[in-house]
Amino acid sequence: MKRIAIIGGGISGLSAAFFLEQRRLAGMPLEYVLFEANPRFGGVIFTERVDDCLVEAGPDSFLTEKPDASDLCRDLGIGDQLVGSNDSQRKTYILVNGKLIAIPDGLAFMIPTKILPAALSPLFSWHTKLKMTSEWFHLPLEVKNDESVASFVERHYGKEMVDRLADPLLSGVYGGDASQLSVKAVMPRFAEMQARHGSLGKATIKNRSQAIGKSSCPIFTSLKDGMHQLVSALLLRIPASSVRSNASIQSLCPIDDGWRVSWQDKAEQFDSVILAVPSYVAAELLDSSNANLASELRAIQYSSSGTVALGFDRKVGELLPAGFGYLVPRREGKRVLAVTFVHNKFPHRTPEDRALFRCFLGGTRDEPVLDLADDEILQIVRKELREVLGIETEPRFARVYKWRGAMAQYNVGHLERLQRIEVLRREVPGLFFAGNAYNGIGVPDCVRSGRQAASHALGVEP
Ligand SMILES: Cc1cc2nc3c(=O)[nH]c(=O)nc-3n(C[C@H](O)[C@H](O)[C@H](O)COP(=O)(O)OP(=O)(O)OC[C@H]3O[C@@H](n4cnc5c(N)ncnc54)[C@H](O)[C@@H]3O)c2cc1C
Repeated sequence: MKRIAIIGGGISGLSAAFFLEQRRLAGMPLEYVLFEANPRFGGVIFTERVDDCLVEAGPDSFLTEKPDASDLCRDLGIGDQLVGSNDSQRKTYILVNGKLIAIPDGLAFMIPTKILPAALSPLFSWHTKLKMTSEWFHLPLEVKNDESVASFVERHYGKEMVDRLADPLLSGVYGGDASQLSVKAVMPRFAEMQARHGSLGKATIKNRSQAIGKSSCPIFTSLKDGMHQLVSALLLRIPASSVRSNASIQSLCPIDDGWRVSWQDKAEQFDSVILAVPSYVAAELLDSSNANLASELRAIQYSSSGTVALGFDRKVGELLPAGFGYLVPRREGKRVLAVTFVHNKFPHRTPEDRALFRCFLGGTRDEPVLDLADDEILQIVRKELREVLGIETEPRFARVYKWRGAMAQYNVGHLERLQRIEVLRREVPGLFFAGNAYNGIGVPDCVRSGRQAASHALGVEP
């Protein structure tokens, strides 16, 4: 009987456990235990119901085009609970000199695919508009070494595009910094497009024309009762005898043919271990047995971030422009990095007479904000919402959530580091990794990483 330990009960570890459970039910001789340090499973996935509103403390949805999370929901029998974003309201604004300016139609991430809206948009100067035109004539270019997203985007569209779009978007998604994040790890498709076509604009239009006829799905997907519905469904399918909460693993010791896993005053032996914890925790656990591997894992940086939920009466919603929300470039000098108008993006999350805001703070741009007390953070958020949106009203409720060291940063050189980690990992029998430190930070990426780690541990196809 093969025994596998999974350490970390976030979505990565839970996905690994579910894969093992499916194989166990199919008759594979195996036992597994999922260890989670906290009383609650789900890691950064946490949903609360406050004042009849569905509040997401961590991730609020996932990209529909990445199928792993939706497929998992269907495997769990909750496919009918999937809900798409309300894309009829899909407009995002950028704060420029204190005013909200809509991202023009036809801008795919930051690639212009429609000439007129980009040409008429007040978001960009004439210099940037000229760059957008001349980008069309870029020749194919394979850049051997990795480079930052900022230098890549600047080469194509100039510095203003970095400041007004690339950096705010990456702050919102990664809590990261465009001048540090690796284009090959974070935007591999862009690097491929540059190598094949030269111009990103030309490549996008070509890809689109090939995709014509395919159904257009909402850009984001979530669950009717919130992201925690996925965690609850997973826990219903994993037997209680295979999960241990309040079990913070303190040491991992290689022994003959396996591992000794220790927590509090207890220890158990396993053939294999899946580390589904942040890579700096994996590094701590492997330090004494494999210092080189630990040092590579420790070198992956993480950022911390906070979300603030504010619920208002609908009158406040009437002050707002239509759309999903806005992003804030760093030169605006604000501490709130992004704001989502939840009642527009996912209307089912609020009663009709409410407006719900989700504000994002911290990241590499402003980690110290997380050291402030909740009251101080709320004051900052309310001041900035007053300045940008003119909201003076008292909220009906407010919640502050802090996520320390939760977002891995794929800095320049990340893919090379992953190769070194993989070489070192293969030298250690029965050791596997899952989580957002490696091949994708989004919920679907983490689901995939958990499934792959579990399948590798069993030596079967994912
Ligand atoms: C604020 C925020 C917003 C986000 N928004 C989105 C979004 O909208 N869409 C999207 O796709 N992604 C989003 N993400 C990213 C995504 O949610 C995460 O990358 C993903 O959920 C991480 O899952 P994980 O299981 O790898 O890690 P985690 O959720 O961090 O889980 C790791 C678990 O390991 C446990 N652990 C740690 N040490 C030990 C130990 N020694 N022993 C036992 N257990 C231990 C922890 O307690 C934790 O439960 C967001 C992330 C954050 C923080």
